[in-house]
Parts: sequence; C-alpha cells; structure tokens
Amino acid sequence: MDYQKIIEAVYAEVKSWENKGQIAQYIPELSNVNPRQLGVHVSTLDGYDVGMGDHHTKFSIQSIAKVLSLTLAYRLRGNELWKRVGVEPSGTPFNSLVQLEHDQGIPRNPMINAGAIVICDILVSHFRNPKKELLAFVREVAQNPDIAFNESVAQSELSVGYRNTALINLMKAFGNIDNDIELVLDLYCYMCSLEMTCQELSRAFLFLANDGIDPITQHQVLSLTRSKRVNAIMQTCGFYDEAGEFSFRVGLPGKSGVGGGIVAVHPEHFSIAVWSPRLNKKGNSYRGMKFLEQFTTQTGLSVF
Ligand code: GLN
Repeated sequence: MDYQKIIEAVYAEVKSWENKGQIAQYIPELSNVNPRQLGVHVSTLDGYDVGMGDHHTKFSIQSIAKVLSLTLAYRLRGNELWKRVGVEPSGTPFNSLVQLEHDQGIPRNPMINAGAIVICDILVSHFRNPKKELLAFVREVAQNPDIAFNESVAQSELSVGYRNTALINLMKAFGNIDNDIELVLDLYCYMCSLEMTCQELSRAFLFLANDGIDPITQHQVLSLTRSKRVNAIMQTCGFYDEAGEFSFRVGLPGKSGVGGGIVAVHPEHFSIAVWSPRLNKKGNSYRGMKFLEQFTTQTGLSVF
C-alpha cells in the first residue's frame, strides 16, 4: 500500500473543498486557533511513518485524551470500572445531561464528558498527584517527554465549564463521584488541555492497533482483551451522536476532540491522526471526517 501517494491525493482533494464548520467557541482559549490548518499523520505497524501539512503543529487534543485516561484507569482498576460507567453508545451530544438523571448518575460510556469525569474521579482516588501521573502515562505511551498540558486552555475551560460542573454535581448527588468536585474537574480540564501533534498522536495510539502492545518498544500497555474493548468503545461511542455516521463513512474505531483532532486505528495495520479546527454541528472536525472517509475509501481499508 502506497500510503504516501494516497495521503497526498486525499490531502489535495480535501484542501480543494470548502472548509466548512465553526471553531469551538465555548472554551475561549480554543477560539484563537487558525482555522485553515490541516494536518495528517499515519503510523503503520511495520514502521511506515508519514504525514502532511500541519502534522508537526501542537493542538489541544481535548476529548481524544479520554481514551488515554480510560486506558490508564482500565490498567489500574480492570473491570471494576464498569460498575460506574457503561459501554453503550449515548446517541447524545458529548456534554448532554439528559440521560444522566434517567440512568441514576451512571454515564452511558467513558467517551462522553460525564463518563470521562467518572474516570477522572477514579484516577483522583488512586493517585496522590493524578495530573502528574496522567501526564507521565501519556508521555510513556507516546514515548515522548515533550508532551504537556496547556495551562491557559485548562484555566480557560475551568472558568466556563458550566455544563461539566452540572454533570459532576448530578453524579455526586447520585453517589457516583467519590472526591471533591473541584479536584476532579481540575484533572478533567487539564487532561483535555493536553497538546500533541498529529505525529505524536498517531504514534501514541499505535498500541491499540497492535493488540495492546507498543510495536516499537514491545511494551504491553493493555492486555489483548482490554485493548479490543477500548477499540470497541471508540467504534461505538467515539463520536457521540455521530458515532454511527463515522462507522458508516469511515469504518474505523476512532476518537474526536473539540480542538479539531481525530485519531483512528485499524487493528493489525495502522494508526492515523488528522487535525483541522473547524467542527461540524456534532462537534467533530469537518475536514477530519472528510479526510478519513476519503482515506478509507481510497485504501479500501476499514474494519468492515
Ligand atoms: N474539554 C471539552 C469539554 O469538556 C471536551 C469536549 C470534546 O472534546 N468533545 O467540553
């Protein structure tokens, strides 16, 4: 497979189309990003590593980080997690409150904000310094000590996180949050503020394409079963109320973030990260979705 050639062709095609959608405005610090940027990077299990455009530019990975915090919590607590968060697609927006009341404070899955907040609560219970431990874990998985939180993005979100505050309060009332609300939201917002490039992201997600084992270091990040389950959750829940559409158009397990990034993995083959800041109505990168749709169409590679 000539990934380089396909990426070049798809890149040129997507660049030639109108760049639709809006940059995330509700986190003030995110609205300052140049919306014209487009980056893509593919890392394959056999060592092929290729990217184009703004693939070396750091951006706010936002909800993509939920996969990494889930991986860490799953490694520490195993199946205990599923008593506090489900594995069903929500069919609702990432920050929706509607199901939580009905489901008695148990979020549908760990990819929506409520579920990721519960995972943060578990990490706060486990570690004395959860931010430091989470960052160390991400650096380990990415094999890169340069990854960091963006302080201004984290503070910006903390200052306006009204919906997340509502979600955590409701869950606390139902007894599904053990720690202080401020501590948990602090970890959640710092986690979302992690900055990475497309290259760093596709590298970091390679273990999910390789049955839980980092193909370069041979380090086991997750067991085979757990790695498959994280992929299953990405496939069914990674795009909120657009998860069906992403499966339909792209056909890979993946995760988006409101910074405009998307990571997708093709088990046994590759990991790919795309970034373009303008979002569609569901909060997923407009061009990112288009790029991945064209990429899996032209390569003929999807999990289906
Ligand atoms: N930090 C964002 C929030 O909680 C993450 C949302 C996202 O990337 N979908 O609203």
